[in-house]
Amino acid sequence: AQQILLNSRPEGVPTPDNFKIASLSLPEVKEGEFLVKNLWMSVDPYMRGRMIDRESYIAPFNLGEVLDGGAIGEVIESRHAEFPVGSKVTSMLGWRSHYVTDGNEHTKLPDISLSESHFLGVLGMPGMTAWTGLTRISELKAGETLFVSAASGAVGSIACQLGKLIGAKVIASVGSDEKAAYLKSLGVDAVINYKTVSNLSEALKEAAQEGVDVYFENVGGEHLSAALDNMNDHGRIAVCGMIAQYNDTVPTPGPSNLAMIIIKKLRVEGFIVFEHWAHYPEFAKEMGQWLTTGAVKAEQTVYEGLENASTAFIGLFEGKNCGKMVVKLA
Ligand code: NDP
Repeated sequence: AQQILLNSRPEGVPTPDNFKIASLSLPEVKEGEFLVKNLWMSVDPYMRGRMIDRESYIAPFNLGEVLDGGAIGEVIESRHAEFPVGSKVTSMLGWRSHYVTDGNEHTKLPDISLSESHFLGVLGMPGMTAWTGLTRISELKAGETLFVSAASGAVGSIACQLGKLIGAKVIASVGSDEKAAYLKSLGVDAVINYKTVSNLSEALKEAAQEGVDVYFENVGGEHLSAALDNMNDHGRIAVCGMIAQYNDTVPTPGPSNLAMIIIKKLRVEGFIVFEHWAHYPEFAKEMGQWLTTGAVKAEQTVYEGLENASTAFIGLFEGKNCGKMVVKLA
């Protein structure tokens, strides 16, 4: 068995030497426990924040210890009645090939016709984040204009599709022409490649034509500034993430146009998806139906092998993924 440890705290963009692969010896399986072989693990931008030694909504990772995060595994040995051999489970025990557990904070997965890896993406935390940001935070309505940044990613690609299902005009920002073509294929009305436009605010103005009612914020910085310029009166900003700042080594100055919040009477609201988890069943029911009918499509970028998990994680900050970034372990 193997695991990945936090070898050093990243300064700026994480590098391979911040991670270390190490062997792992497994205890014997006692009464009331079971052994899991991980099949898939998730890499997510929020993990970057946990690599910093600071107080936040979630505890930091400890140096020299195994990382953790969302994972899906299969029970391969069991002395636990509720988790027989062959059960597929979700846990927060990623970044390792195997582990022994008493089943605390484990959920058995239902049988679905899609790959179970989608429980790390569209049917899991990122999908739930998109749904929460649009329906519970910004309360997007039919006929409004939605702007989504990091729009081809795990959260963004679902937010764009839910925006279309709600009946909004959807404008997306992405970092490559391939990603733009992907979003167009999903029915997004206009896509901006933020890496090639000379002025993001002008590009958004042109794409939106009649302004933006809801901004689904994943990036921060110049994207937030462009959105503030183009928001309509009483617009809403669902502040989900600010990935452009996660690797900053010096604090970035805020947008110079924050006064637009006053002038346009905006509602700017941050949220953490886990605080909305009581609504997961409602979300899962709706999303399950949309996936079955094809109303929502789920893309994934798959890296293979535990030894490539850190490369996959670093790739999030280089735009290497389209849809959800996952690592296939077995
Ligand atoms: P993604 O799948 O979107 O992966 C990250 C993407 O961000 C990359 O593919 C890249 O796409 C884009 N990106 C990376 N660096 C930059 C940059 N400097 N400027 C602009 N774009 C950049 O990740 P997720 O969907 O998992 O997460 C999206 C956001 O949502 C993150 O900010 C994350 O922290 C946040 N989040 C918040 C949650 C909450 O509860 N509040 C829960 C889950 C996620 P491109 O090629 O287009 O640049």
